[in-house]
Amino acid sequence: MRTPDSELNDLDQAGLRRHLRRIDSPQGVNIRLAGSGEFLNFSSNDYLGLANHPANKASYTVNIERYGTGSGSSRLVCGSQSPHHELEEKLAALKNAEAALTFSSGFATATGVIPALCGKDDIIILDKLCHASLIDGARLSGATIRVYPHNDLPKLKKHLAWATEKVQANGRILVITESIFSMDGDRAPLQEICDIVTASPALFMLDEAHAFGIIGPKGRGLAAELGIETQVDLQMGTFSKGTGLSGGYLCSSRSLIDLLTNKARSFIYSTAPSPSLAATISDCLDLITGDEGDQLRSKLWTNIHNFRTKAESAIVPVIIGENEPALEAAEKLKNKGLLVPAIRYPTVPRGTARLRVTLSAAHSDDQIESLNYALAEFDSFH
Ligand SMILES: *Cc1c(COP(=O)(O)O)cnc(C)c1O
Repeated sequence: MRTPDSELNDLDQAGLRRHLRRIDSPQGVNIRLAGSGEFLNFSSNDYLGLANHPANKASYTVNIERYGTGSGSSRLVCGSQSPHHELEEKLAALKNAEAALTFSSGFATATGVIPALCGKDDIIILDKLCHASLIDGARLSGATIRVYPHNDLPKLKKHLAWATEKVQANGRILVITESIFSMDGDRAPLQEICDIVTASPALFMLDEAHAFGIIGPKGRGLAAELGIETQVDLQMGTFSKGTGLSGGYLCSSRSLIDLLTNKARSFIYSTAPSPSLAATISDCLDLITGDEGDQLRSKLWTNIHNFRTKAESAIVPVIIGENEPALEAAEKLKNKGLLVPAIRYPTVPRGTARLRVTLSAAHSDDQIESLNYALAEFDSFH
């Protein structure tokens, strides 16, 4: 039988072995790495700088006093605490949906929701660059899976026509995409996809993980920016990125949410997130949708456009090509005190290894400029 060490060795040989890097400071623009000192951080998804923000910390402290630390059980066992209900009501209103359900992470949301809605007689159609949680959710469901090349609308139409023909009378077709793609930072042609899907019998699921808090009026996401939330049957997202906390959500119709409460296994068989966390997310939604949220978004978009005028989100890839040169580029930047991760296969396709820059509202103009300066060497667009 193969041993763990032989597998690790194979990863080493292929240049694909990953190691955890220890951080000795809170999350933020300036972080301290164990043994190697301070770095300017361009690698986190804390887009609004809320992970260590005074308002989030103050709210979390008060909510721990009020609600305690643990929830004690799944929400279907002991009972469902009021902070979870208040959060879900607030979120549903924000997303222009009838109801919402929260999960312990975005990953748990996808792997709970998709298999709850689809089974072996159903068909799931996804964009090729969809996040691992969506792919795993689709696989776990046992449904027939069709993947279309990234943002390829004719191919999506073709899969949908095929699925509409093939699906049984009682079957379901589910189309899944993201509003912002996590490794390219580009947007889906959402209006067009929405038009295609709404003209078919399929359900439409949209993952707004990298858009929530950042894009659209009050940070409500790309579907809100286009005014099409009510045409998206399942609006998914996470509280771990723009919100600076953790957890996942799904907004939908009342009956779909009631069905998920009965069938999503990652919801049913997992202890509810801490009620103090739920209450803190609620408070943070007020911040994100208020004046301070507008100011943070305005600063973030200034930073994004100062870095690359045409960037579509806070994620900006600098494509290098092969794995080794990408790793070397990241190492060179690190030697200059800048933390920008190299992303390799299998996270991105072979031959497209890249530096993945993520920007935050907490970066200063000078910090963006030093990144631009340091990157000039690697970036053919510069
Ligand atoms: C990060 C991410 C998730 C997972 O969310 P977590 O809360 O981090 O588990 C799901 N979908 C997409 C597109 C993501 O980028």
